[in-house]
Amino acid sequence: MSWYTINYQCGHEGDEQIYGPIKDRKEIAERRGQKLCPDCYKEEVTKKREVERLQATEKAQTQNLPELVGSEKQVAWAQTIRMKSLESVEKYMENRKPGVIKNADMPMAEQNIRWMKRECREFLEDKSLGEFFEIVTAGIDILRSQTSASWWIDHRQADTAEEMIETALGLYIKTH
Ligand SMILES: [Zn+2]
Repeated sequence: MSWYTINYQCGHEGDEQIYGPIKDRKEIAERRGQKLCPDCYKEEVTKKREVERLQATEKAQTQNLPELVGSEKQVAWAQTIRMKSLESVEKYMENRKPGVIKNADMPMAEQNIRWMKRECREFLEDKSLGEFFEIVTAGIDILRSQTSASWWIDHRQADTAEEMIETALGLYIKTH
C-alpha cells in the first residue's frame, strides 16, 4: 500500500492510497484519474438529484398529481420516487393497450402472468387482457391519488413496472 497523487478528470488533484501489487498501482492510479475527484463527484450527485426533483415537480404539475404530504425531506424524495414509478408503469402499459396487443380477448390465465403474486393471479384468471388493461389503469389512478410521501418511500423498491403493477392491482382489488 502507498500513496499516489491522482490527477482527476475535473482538474483537481488528490492523494489516494492504492493497494495491490506494485506493478498494477500505476494503472490503478491512472484509472482513478479518469473519474471526478470525491468533492466534484459528490457535487454531481447532488446536482443530479436536484434535476430529478425539479423534473418530478414539473411532471406532477402537468399531470395534476396531488401534493404530497410529509416532511420537506420526505416530500422531496417521494416526488422523485413517484415520478419514476408512474413512468415505468405507464411505459409498460403503453405496450399492452388492447389495440396494440393481439388476442386481447384471451383470458389472462393463458397469458404470461406467472410473475404475479397469487392474489393478483387469482383475481385476473378469468379476465381478458383488455380487462386487465382497464383494471390496471384504474389501479394506477388509485396510485396517483396516494398523497402520503412515506407511502411512496415505503414502495420505492417497486421501481420495476411489474412490482408497481402488482401494487396498483392490490389497491384495486382492495376496493372492488
Ligand atoms: Zn474535482
